[in-house]
Amino acid sequence: MTPTTAATSQGAALGVVLQGVPVVPGVAYAPAIRPGRPPAPEDLSAPTELVEADREAEAARFSAAAHAVATRLRDRAAHATGAASEVLGATAQLATDRAWLGAAEKRIGAGTPAVRATTEAVEQFVEMFTKMGGLMAERVTDLRDIRDRVIAELAGLPEPGVPLPDVPSVLCADDLAPADTAGLDPALIIGLATSLGGPTSHTAIIARQLGIPCVVAVTGLDDVAVGSKILLDGTLGTVAVDPDATTAGAAVERARQAAAAMANWSGPGATADGHPVAVLANVQDGAAARAARATPAEGIGLFRTELCFLNAETEPSVEEQARIYGEVLQPFSGHKVVIRTLDAGSDKPLKFAGQPEEANPALGVRGIRVSFGNPAILDNQLAGIAAAAEQTDSQPWVMAPMIATPEEARDFAAKVRAHGLIPGVMIEVPAAALLAARILEHVDFVSIGTNDLAQYTMAADRMSAELATLTDPWQPGVLALVAMTAEAGTAAGKPVGVCGEAAADPLLACVLVGMGITSLSAAAAAVMAVGAKLSTVTLEQCRRAGAAALATASAAEARAAALAALS
Ligand code: PEP
Ligand code: MG
Repeated sequence: MTPTTAATSQGAALGVVLQGVPVVPGVAYAPAIRPGRPPAPEDLSAPTELVEADREAEAARFSAAAHAVATRLRDRAAHATGAASEVLGATAQLATDRAWLGAAEKRIGAGTPAVRATTEAVEQFVEMFTKMGGLMAERVTDLRDIRDRVIAELAGLPEPGVPLPDVPSVLCADDLAPADTAGLDPALIIGLATSLGGPTSHTAIIARQLGIPCVVAVTGLDDVAVGSKILLDGTLGTVAVDPDATTAGAAVERARQAAAAMANWSGPGATADGHPVAVLANVQDGAAARAARATPAEGIGLFRTELCFLNAETEPSVEEQARIYGEVLQPFSGHKVVIRTLDAGSDKPLKFAGQPEEANPALGVRGIRVSFGNPAILDNQLAGIAAAAEQTDSQPWVMAPMIATPEEARDFAAKVRAHGLIPGVMIEVPAAALLAARILEHVDFVSIGTNDLAQYTMAADRMSAELATLTDPWQPGVLALVAMTAEAGTAAGKPVGVCGEAAADPLLACVLVGMGITSLSAAAAAVMAVGAKLSTVTLEQCRRAGAAALATASAAEARAAALAALS
């Protein structure tokens, strides 16, 4: 991810082009703005030690500042919707959390001025949250954001954060606090670039919801001056600084036309020359399935059943499971529905799966492996799925996650067939991709989970923002395993789908089809963009794009090569 000139992808007319990780597709061309800096120490003159008589008033001043910050965040939450509103509400709650307020008040009571007490109390919790890891560690950005807001309030300075520009602008930042991202107005902030963060960060999730083209982990972004004209491409992951205006205008126009074509696409999935490719939806419950039914998705390509039970203390009965699965089968009755058996473990622990504490849970007893020591869990789930199929008169396909060997595929297939269901497995462990031909001897289909396949192929944690460029599904090493699997499917005459995030990227979707992938399953929000893009290219173009991407040595080169082959 070093700054380059864009001769590779769009001609030298784009000048200096910075490379990052694309998160939300779309193109924006506008001046750069930057968020306000948090208050500098010189703005914050304060006595080093409070005299006894001033401490109570200082504590009241601190409490009023924290509550003012929380009220402002709550107001903004009330004016936002969906994930944006939730994030703002959660940050507001954290601003008045008793634990950290108490820690700061205790310090003030001992003579520490409010500004320093705020900083120290927040650092205490930052340290604690960081040690706890996982979701708690992700809240560290929120805590520091609250600290800066409270300190600004105490010092009588403007609230730090995103300025309201007079003209539509591209916001460039180190990283944005979720509260800042959630409050963005997509009419004024038309592009978002950060030098930190990963595709699964809160910033990325909210940008996706707001539909703001977004690129994260951009190297060299710190040197971009406020006011420079930026051409941001959320598909390629590029940030061009002061590009030629005509070239930039043409890129914006192409993106506008693609958006218009997308709005008109109504399925079914096929290339421009009529090669059918099922475009399916990923869901986690009945509500998501009903929402997916309102899109042109032809079916469900991945039902993540474990997400129904994250809060369950005990294993749900077969009847309860049948009811839950039936809710997903019902809206797509008569259509393809692929149900994945429980992918418990790693970042999705299930209380009733009885999993041990493990040093490396992503490499531990996860997915199908849970059933090795507890076969009843799988047997009960298959009984629940079979009952749901009967009640809804459906013929679901059933696949197992984390299959590593042909024997595992064989044993799973036998159990699934015994319940009268259609067996398949996920290909998300590199060994399974390498032996896809032997796995396909036992099952009727496979579906590639590119999220985990990238994690395990690149030896890079999919949750790590720092390693986001390695877990990019455009990595040629990952693409090579996808191509091997697709070839094995073609040779066996059996379907090979992709249900990881790769299938949600319209450009990558074309590459996958060119490799021989027969179905693409993505979040319902991505279905239109994928289907529309596919309808504009021929199978031959997809094949050329697939071959071109496979011949490269980096994710950025693979994207550029595919783009060139498809245009
Ligand atoms: C994947 O790994 O790509 C996948 C689809 O499964 P999950 O994201 O649920 O692990
Ligand atoms: Mg997976």
